[in-house]
Amino acid sequence: MLLVIVEHDRGNLPEAAREALTAGRSLAATLDLELHAAVVGEGGADVTDELGVYGAETVHLVEHDLLTDYGPEAWATALTQLVESIEPEVVVSVGSDRGNEVLAHIAARLDQPFAANCLTVEPGDPWTLTRVQWGGSLLEDATLVADLPIVSFALHGVVSEPAESPEDPTVETFTADLDDSVATTIVADRVVLTFGVTLPTAPLVVGGGRGVGSAVGFAPLEELAAELGGVVGCSRAVTNNGWRPHSDQVGQTGTRIAPELYIASGISGAIQHWVGAMASKKILAINTDKDANMVSRADYAVIGDLHEVIPAITAEIRRRRS
Ligand code: FAD
Repeated sequence: MLLVIVEHDRGNLPEAAREALTAGRSLAATLDLELHAAVVGEGGADVTDELGVYGAETVHLVEHDLLTDYGPEAWATALTQLVESIEPEVVVSVGSDRGNEVLAHIAARLDQPFAANCLTVEPGDPWTLTRVQWGGSLLEDATLVADLPIVSFALHGVVSEPAESPEDPTVETFTADLDDSVATTIVADRVVLTFGVTLPTAPLVVGGGRGVGSAVGFAPLEELAAELGGVVGCSRAVTNNGWRPHSDQVGQTGTRIAPELYIASGISGAIQHWVGAMASKKILAINTDKDANMVSRADYAVIGDLHEVIPAITAEIRRRRS
């Protein structure tokens, strides 16, 4: 069997989990293996139907009082016990922060190599892989020799797709054997910072960079985002200046976004920003510099001052709607 480790947050499945299942399903088909999924912690039972939609034939609910919220040591110890118990041929997840952290812990515990952030995985002797390195600026061809291949797929490197025929998964409960020694990193408090549409899931993001000029300069970007049902994002130049919180930052050290449309205004398109924005389906760049990287990479561009262009777009949308 191939085991996919699926992230969820108290029964909410992120897009990363669907990507992991889509990639895992394809690899399982290539290897002619059954597709199993493992979910850890509270709310796992709420996602089993959706895991079936993405092809999971068996779902392992990994349970213990210490697994309510995410803790890398506790999750990895419990999942290592599951792996030792059910003995999969392959273990995969998606290369989110959490996915990579847990797989790295599991690989260390099992004394196996771990191939992170793979775009392609070809089983063989040896397995061949293409991995994303250095925040997306390097693609590396690699080989993997392992008794138990442990692989994460690059986040947003796969487009999630339900299985052609949904499964009605068998649900098996696995009670981990844990003690307090694994509770070294625990969630002490949970604060909901955003309501409704969030940066990682928003269908539209209006991004602002240094070109916005100030914190108050973001007001027209907020207006445009609200008009289109989206949210505001920003570059690191903006968070460094204290104009927006870090939770709004798009990029290598911020959030990776995948909206239908990313409006990148006053953003030069440095590689560290681009890796967080490149999964956008379409990009509209607004920049005074026609040679800016973001303009070259965008699907559409307006060469002009964002302080004029953004209010003009908002006004035109309102005019057409009225
Ligand atoms: P700038 O590069 O200064 O670009 C400003 C742009 O605005 C220019 O293209 C200019 O032509 C345009 N402009 C100016 N005025 C106007 C106007 N009135 N109208 C229209 N356009 C205008 N950056 C990130 O964004 N996210 C990250 O996660 C991130 N992580 C990093 C991690 C590391 C380890 C390092 C070293 C850097 C990281 N950076 C990150 C920083 C990154 O390298 C860039 O410095 C940053 O993205 C630049 O932000 P910017 O595009 O807003 O600013």
